[in-house]
Amino acid sequence: MSRSVLVTGGNRGIGLAIARAFADAGDQVAITYRSGDPAELEKQGFLAVKCDITDGEQVEQAYKEIEEKHGPVEVLVANAGVTKDQLLMRMTEEDFTSVLDTNLTGTFRVVKRANRGMLRAKKGRVVMISSVVGLYGAPGQANYAASKAGLVGFARSLARELGSRDITFNVVAPGFVDTDMTRALTDEQRANIVAQVPLGRYAQVEEIAAAVRFLASDDASYITGAVIPVDGGLGMGH
Ligand code: NDP
Repeated sequence: MSRSVLVTGGNRGIGLAIARAFADAGDQVAITYRSGDPAELEKQGFLAVKCDITDGEQVEQAYKEIEEKHGPVEVLVANAGVTKDQLLMRMTEEDFTSVLDTNLTGTFRVVKRANRGMLRAKKGRVVMISSVVGLYGAPGQANYAASKAGLVGFARSLARELGSRDITFNVVAPGFVDTDMTRALTDEQRANIVAQVPLGRYAQVEEIAAAVRFLASDDASYITGAVIPVDGGLGMGH
C-alpha cells in the first residue's frame, strides 16, 4: 500500500537515495529542500517542500502542504544534518549550538509535528539518521558527535513513550558515505578513514537507504529503539 513518506534533506546525498528507495517501492514521497531546483525534484516524482528545519514555522507549513497533497505523514525519515568541524579550543558557541539546532533540535521539530498524525492513526514509523561518530567520537567533531549521540537517547525515549501506539523509532548510524559532506575531506583524510574500515571502502548512498527502508517496512514491525550501524564494520556494532 502506498504510504505518505517524508524525508528531510531528501534533495541530495543520502536523503535523495532514501527518497528514491521509497518512491521505487510505490510510496508517495515528500522531501524538504533549501537548496537546488524543486522542479527537477518534482520531475523525479517527489513532492518538494521548501523547509529549513531550524525554523518551526517552516516545519509547520511543510507539514500542512504534505498533508494536503499526500495525507498525514506515516513514515518520517529525519535525515537533514550538517557538520561544522573544529577543535574544541577554536569551536565557538555558535559552531556548537547551530549544529545541535539542525541535527538534534531540528529532528525534534519534525518528529513532534509528525507525531500528531501518527498518534491519531495509532501507527507510524520514524527513522533518524545518526552517525558512527555519535557513538565512536571523532576529534574535531564534538558538536556533531554530541548531536548524533543525542538522537539515540531521543529515539529510545520515544520508543518507550509511544510503543503502545504502534509507533516505532529507530536510528541508522552510517559510517563514511560518499556524499558532498565527505567529499569536503582531503584525499589523505579519506585514505586514513578507509584504512580503518573493515570493508575497506566508503558506503554508497543506496546501502544506507536499504537499511532505512527495511526499518520502515512490515518486516521490521517488532523493531524499535534500535541503532542499526551501516558502517562497513567501523564501529563494530556500537
Ligand atoms: P549532505 O551534506 O550531502 O546533505 C545534507 C542534507 O541536509 C541536504 O539535503 C541539506 O539540504 C539538508 N539540510 C542541512 N541543514 C538543513 C536545515 N537546516 N533544514 C533542512 N535541511 C537541511 O549530507 P549527507 O547526505 O552526507 O548526510 C545526510 C545525513 O546523514 C546527515 O544527517 C549526516 O549527518 C548523516 N551522515 C552522513 C555521513 C556521510 O559520511 N556522508 C555519515 C554518517 C551520517 P540543502 O541541500 O538545502 O542544504
